[in-house]
This record gives sequence, structure tokens and C-alpha cells, in this order.
Amino acid sequence: MNKKQIHLSIADMGTSEEYFIQKAFITNWITTGGPNVDDFEEDLEEFFDESVHVAALNSGTSAIHLALILLGIGNGDEVICQDFTFAATAFPILYLNAKPVFVDSEMKTWNMSPIYLKKAIEKRFNKTGKLPKAIIPVHAYGMPADMDEINAVANDYNIPVIEDAAAALGSMYKRKKCGTLGNISILSFNGNKIITTAGGGAIISKDERIIKQAKLLASQARENTNFYSHQQTGYNYRLSNICAAIGRGQMIVLPERIERRRKINQYYRKRLEIIEGVNFQKEPNRKFYSNYWMTTITVDQRKTGGVTANDIQLALEKENIESRPLWNPMHRQIVFSNSPFYGDGTSEHLFKNGLCLPSGSILTDKELRRVANVIKRTLK
Ligand SMILES: *Cc1c(COP(=O)(O)O)cnc(C)c1O
Repeated sequence: MNKKQIHLSIADMGTSEEYFIQKAFITNWITTGGPNVDDFEEDLEEFFDESVHVAALNSGTSAIHLALILLGIGNGDEVICQDFTFAATAFPILYLNAKPVFVDSEMKTWNMSPIYLKKAIEKRFNKTGKLPKAIIPVHAYGMPADMDEINAVANDYNIPVIEDAAAALGSMYKRKKCGTLGNISILSFNGNKIITTAGGGAIISKDERIIKQAKLLASQARENTNFYSHQQTGYNYRLSNICAAIGRGQMIVLPERIERRRKINQYYRKRLEIIEGVNFQKEPNRKFYSNYWMTTITVDQRKTGGVTANDIQLALEKENIESRPLWNPMHRQIVFSNSPFYGDGTSEHLFKNGLCLPSGSILTDKELRRVANVIKRTLK
């Protein structure tokens, strides 16, 4: 293949990441903890400009794991989880021998349906006599879930919410930043996210005690004494000073990265929305502001003369352009085959008809045109 490959979403470095890394080298602060970690946490706290506290961790997955531990979830407890998500949202439930209960999405946002959430809570209570111990909604591809509705149901039953904002740094719901909308929230800085630390994550809460405890557990639960003292099970989950250096540089360019991803979304919509049978995941109204980490579509083959999302993916692949199906819902995964599911087939519909388009902020206008042209041609 001679055409340059176009990726779905890859790292997009700014100009100061190397400076912060060098500083770490000069001071020989390489490993976990260190000044860059403290400063990166401060950068994040400033970004959220509410009174939140942040602990930087080595992944979004470990952030979800710690969030569940901090809420006291353990053996046999049920945890409600969005069905339409990446498996990393649900795996930590299994780490704790707890039981995932999957709840379908609503078409409006592609995120957790408040109606099925309520149904699931009621049905589980009738069946087991117990309420689920936590609810994990997700902002799929950066699009905020309808958090007021979800939090209202959660409050009715007094169940805490873990907000999976892994892909939604910079997104907003009713002008409030995603990452501040749950009892505990988590972020990911994996390589494909809107900004990266070469692998990393964060746990966020307005409750300072929770974040202090998260930092303790993430550092092998080693107490602050001059000898080794451990009172709880610990984890090796802290971010390294080198990774935090990359994060510091990335925080400087975050506003540009959000703007660029939103521009990319605008461009695709301008070119493709007029085509019959092509539907975009989009902000339902002004309450929702997506960082459009990923531009995603569904394709209605009854209206495209039989052309499917899969046909588009194959056509793009022939041109050395990476695209990817939407998430295969959790209730369809073998690893979760024993878990209850409440819904109406929305997540399955999205999986069967959907596609993620190349959305990285690194894409040039020319590359975007190349992608859009292939899609247009395929749908002719
Ligand atoms: C990326 C992602 C995660 C996991 O984050 P890692 O940093 O890769 O562990 C969890 N949930 C969602 C929705 C994600 O997109």
C-alpha cells in the first residue's frame, strides 16, 4: 500500500512534554510519585475549577478498581454498569468478586438509560432483597450521559455513582465539566485518548478524604511512618514522574485538542450528514457539550441501498484508513455471560450498525478530506 496510513486516534504531543521529561531526568525523579505528579494533579484540579481533588494513577482501569474499593464493594455485591462501553469499565467489578448488572443505553446520548436503570434497580431488589452497591454510567466517545436523570434515580435509592469519564475530559453537561458529576469520577490518559500520559488515569472526588485514601491504597497502602507499616491491602497504581511529565505538557494543549476534535466532527457532519441513512452521535440539545473524542456514525442500510457500516470499514481499510466498529455490548461478551441485563436492544443496534471514524487531533484537513471522500464514494 502506498498511501500514508490514517489512524483512528493516536498521541498528539505538544511542545513542552520533552521539557518536563528532561526536568525529571535532571533531578533523577523517574519513578512513582515526584514533583511532576503533584503538579499534574494540580493542573487537573485547576482545570476542573470546582473544589475537586485528584489522584493521578497508572490507568483508568485502576481508577475504577480503586473507586469500587473505596465504596466498600466486595464479594457478591451487585454493581450496575453501562452495557454499551469498553470492557475496562466492567472488569474491575470482577476483580472484586462482585457482580455486574448491565443497563442498556438510550438513543438520545447512546449512554445509560435512566428508565432501564430504575427498572434494573427495582428488579434486582425484588430478586435479591438487596440494592446494587454502585452505578457506573459512561460518557461514550466523549458524549455526556444524561447525568441529572441518572443521579436522580441513584439518589432515590441512595446508591453512589462512579462516573466513567475516561473519554470525556473537556466534555460538559449543563456547563459542568464531566469528571465532576459523580460521587467518584475517573479519567484515562491512555494513548488513544484526547490527551495521553503514555498510559495513565486519575480518580476524582469532591471529598478530600476519598482522594487521600486513594493515594494511600495506590502506593501499596504504605503508612506514613519511618518503618514499613500496612493496615490495608495495597496496590501499585501510582503514576510515574515521567508519565506525569507528559501529562503536564499535554494539559497545556488540552484546549486546542478539544477544539480540533470538535472541528473534525463538524467537518464530517458537514460532508456526510446529508447522505440518506447516515446518522451521527450528536449533542441532543444545549445541555450537552461533547469533546467529540471520537466521531461516530450509524448506517441504516435500508436507506443506503444496502451499504452497511461494515462495507464502509472495508472500503476505508483498502485505502489504508483505520476505522472501527462501535463497542460490542458487555451483555454479549462471553466473559459476562452470567450477568443480568436490562434493556431494549439499543446497544446491540449501535454495535451492529455503527462505526468510529478517524478522529485524532493529529489529522490534517487533507487527510480528513481523504476519509470523507472514500465514505461518500462507498455510499453512492
Ligand atoms: C479507555 C477507557 C477506559 C480504560 O482506561 P485505561 O486507562 O485504558 O485503563 C475505561 N472506560 C472507558 C469508557 C474507556 O474509553
